[in-house]
Amino acid sequence: MPKTNKVSIETRRYTGYNPVTRLVDIHSHVYEFEEKELRSILDKLKDIVIVGVSDDLESAERLISLASRFDQIVPCLGLHPWSVKNREESISEAYRIIELAINNNIKCFGEIGLDTKFVPETIEAQRQVFRIFLEAARDNNMFVNLHTAGTWEEVFNLLVKYDVAAANLHWYTGPLSLLKDIEAQGFTISINPAIKIQRKHQEVVRKAPLEIMLTESDSPYEYRGMRLTPLMITDVLEKIAMIKEVDVEYVKQVVWDNFRKKYLYYFKDWIG
Ligand SMILES: [Zn+2]
Repeated sequence: MPKTNKVSIETRRYTGYNPVTRLVDIHSHVYEFEEKELRSILDKLKDIVIVGVSDDLESAERLISLASRFDQIVPCLGLHPWSVKNREESISEAYRIIELAINNNIKCFGEIGLDTKFVPETIEAQRQVFRIFLEAARDNNMFVNLHTAGTWEEVFNLLVKYDVAAANLHWYTGPLSLLKDIEAQGFTISINPAIKIQRKHQEVVRKAPLEIMLTESDSPYEYRGMRLTPLMITDVLEKIAMIKEVDVEYVKQVVWDNFRKKYLYYFKDWIG
């Protein structure tokens, strides 16, 4: 039986930070940018918090270095489902990533998750790796930044089963019927710049309450010819405001409040 994580209840009330409204990019592979480009992006976005994710052990190490040097970047370490190949090697890499996170006071795992849409052939190995991360997230009271392509319900059920306290389902294009369960569990979804052209993502925004929404870039991924960058977060806010028929400043405030109330705690040792 999963044990109840009592610490998590207190962490959700964490407010020990000046609540000035900032932009939020909850999911970016910042380590993939050339440092010159990254500096130029960060110069233009002084008030942003970028939650960096990594894809394997090597990128985890690079991300730790970036998060140590740039105030706006905070780290999540993970093994991306697309990086899971050989089962034994991936399991040992997962344990090394977990150890690296714990040794560096990092309280977030990501990008982790399951994918039956793009890499169905490795799903069994993915499941083993993912369970290792979920156990570690539960035992160490950590936030998880999730990839859920084609596996939205399975991932959601595992989060509940493993008693994970804090979870964001990134670039959510899953069933609309699951949104109320995500809300009831206190989890969030994040909205990607793809909102400009991706119908399914627009439907999600129409249906989901603002209180479970965050903004993300998933940069520097390229989607249908659009190279994603954190500079697009303001476009995402504008598009959400348009769909919800509310003021863009209001959306910015709600997104920041969602981040501050649910996840800021997990980055308190890193935030600038
Ligand atoms: Zn990603």
